[in-house]
Amino acid sequence: MRLSTYFLPTLKEDPAEAQVVSHRLMLRAGMIRQHAAGIYNWLPLGLRVLRRVEWIVREEQNAAGAQEILMPTVQSADLWRESGRYEDYGKEMLRLTDRHGRAMLYSPTHEESVTNIFRQNIKSYRDLPRMFYQIHWKFRDEVRPRFGVMRGREFLMKDNYSFDLDYAGARRAYNRMFVAYLRTFSRMGLRAVPMRADAGPMGGDMSHEFIILAATGESSVFFHRALLEKNPPLNIDYTSNLQQIVNEWMSLYAATDEKHDPQATVVTALGNDLIAARGIEVGHIFYFGRKYSDPMRAMVVGPDGDLVPVEMGSYGIGISRLVAAIIEASHDEAGIIWPAAVAPFRVGLINLKGGDTAIDAGCDALYEMLCRARVEVLYDDRHERVGTKFADMDLIGLPWQVIVGPKSLARGVIELKNRATGAREELSPEALMERLRAKD
Ligand code: ATP
Ligand code: MG
Repeated sequence: MRLSTYFLPTLKEDPAEAQVVSHRLMLRAGMIRQHAAGIYNWLPLGLRVLRRVEWIVREEQNAAGAQEILMPTVQSADLWRESGRYEDYGKEMLRLTDRHGRAMLYSPTHEESVTNIFRQNIKSYRDLPRMFYQIHWKFRDEVRPRFGVMRGREFLMKDNYSFDLDYAGARRAYNRMFVAYLRTFSRMGLRAVPMRADAGPMGGDMSHEFIILAATGESSVFFHRALLEKNPPLNIDYTSNLQQIVNEWMSLYAATDEKHDPQATVVTALGNDLIAARGIEVGHIFYFGRKYSDPMRAMVVGPDGDLVPVEMGSYGIGISRLVAAIIEASHDEAGIIWPAAVAPFRVGLINLKGGDTAIDAGCDALYEMLCRARVEVLYDDRHERVGTKFADMDLIGLPWQVIVGPKSLARGVIELKNRATGAREELSPEALMERLRAKD
């Protein structure tokens, strides 16, 4: 992609309305623009990151045995009356009326819709277990939308719903998501800690929020120091029950403030190993049993011929929030530092002397070579000041910068800068290609 024709409206100054660093940098890097309070446009650079995040989530959901569907955002109120949530949901639900005077809504979540799909189509325990997910927009009329896409009113979520015959099956589904989440966030270069969260009326230990530590986070959390070092398992057999892996993680104390009890012996025993911090909730997994299958009569014929309501759970990931959370976790004074897996482009190619025939030709050739090798590159071919080019490239945070100017070109070498470490080296074009083709 040539920057001279790319829509990248960067800003030199910090926008006054942005209070947290991710919001500031997303605006300055031309990733998003506000449409109305808590509602955002995604511009080309931002959308590329959003899609990368989405794709990692999708791969890990598929690997864990979930199947992707797509449900409508605008829904009839009828199903919500069946579950009892139409009245309960309150002002966060955006309610609409269609031309025939029928009550409609913009869905804040999809338990009712997916339960309806299930009960219309699945009748026997032999068709279980099932897991359906979608990646789609939600609307919640938050009292205080803030921090950009971190707490929006319209936001992109991955929501997955599991259906099982009994508690043991539901537990296996829960474990699969627990492990899939560990892998998902780690692939994005994040350390997200699973923390016991409020399980609502169901009680039990089957609700975890996945939290990224950041000073600007809205959740206050308490956890065992050892969780900072713990890495997700590499090879997962999703046909096994995964209980051992989950137990290993759950044995280390971690709780959000709703669940945290400073007097509990497990907590006092931790001493200096207890860390109190702030964090961003990027995912939430939740077992809720028959909360919807009972009132909505989502039943299957069990092994002994009786009709039984299915056991359910739901599993969310805040995809648009993640884009901001990654920036909170990875930036410096100059701008964003994208982890390679979610970077909008892998390489930024900087032409230090746009308009100079030899330099232009050298850059163009390099650009062609990178494109042919399928290395995603944003080529700054603008006739701008060098300072502006460097500042913009640091701001948008691509993992590698390739810098081409008269001095290095004369010597037949190219300068390569690592955005995260700032380390610079000079390489031959061949060595450069080799390096940029690598996976990291
Ligand atoms: P929160 O406590 O932050 O309001 P929640 O518990 O209401 O979130 P869930 O229903 O668990 O949210 O939704 C699943 C995920 O969707 C959350 O873990 C979060 O990452 C994301 N999410 C929820 N609300 C928002 C929002 N207003 N803007 C962006 N992402 C959101
Ligand atoms: Mg939640």
